[in-house]
Amino acid sequence: MTADEKFMKAAITQARKAYAIDEVPIGCVIVQNDKIIARGYNRRNIDKNTLAHAELSAIRKASKKTGDWRLEDCTMYVTLEPCQMCAGAIVQSRMKRVVIGSMNAKAGCAGSILNLLQMQQFNHQVEITRGVREEECSQMLSQFFRELRERKKRKADPV
Ligand SMILES: [Zn+2]
Repeated sequence: MTADEKFMKAAITQARKAYAIDEVPIGCVIVQNDKIIARGYNRRNIDKNTLAHAELSAIRKASKKTGDWRLEDCTMYVTLEPCQMCAGAIVQSRMKRVVIGSMNAKAGCAGSILNLLQMQQFNHQVEITRGVREEECSQMLSQFFRELRERKKRKADPV
């Protein structure tokens, strides 16, 4: 197992926490000097908060831990391509690198809809590695949405 695969596995463990509470399973860890310094998972519904994305939660914890808003020597591992809000925060935090599990054609801003992480016009660009444990990350999401559809169907059409 490569180091990237190992840390993505930890991000997947975070995503499973979201899954367990019926949240869209997205998880994230931030690594500094080969050590996980912060973890986060999606809690948007349970917290009733747009800002409760996995990445923002991990960035907040990482800064608390390091005592610095700059995360220049850190790498983020996230199971799904970040949205525009999180990609913006990642650039603002000066994150060195982001490792992505699966891409998100409908909302991703690390190369799908646009690539906020690597705009030459901004003062910081983030290195990107895509497709680490992609299969696992995308299967977890499709399983979640399949179950959600089935549950909704059962509710709408009780036997
Ligand atoms: Zn986000």
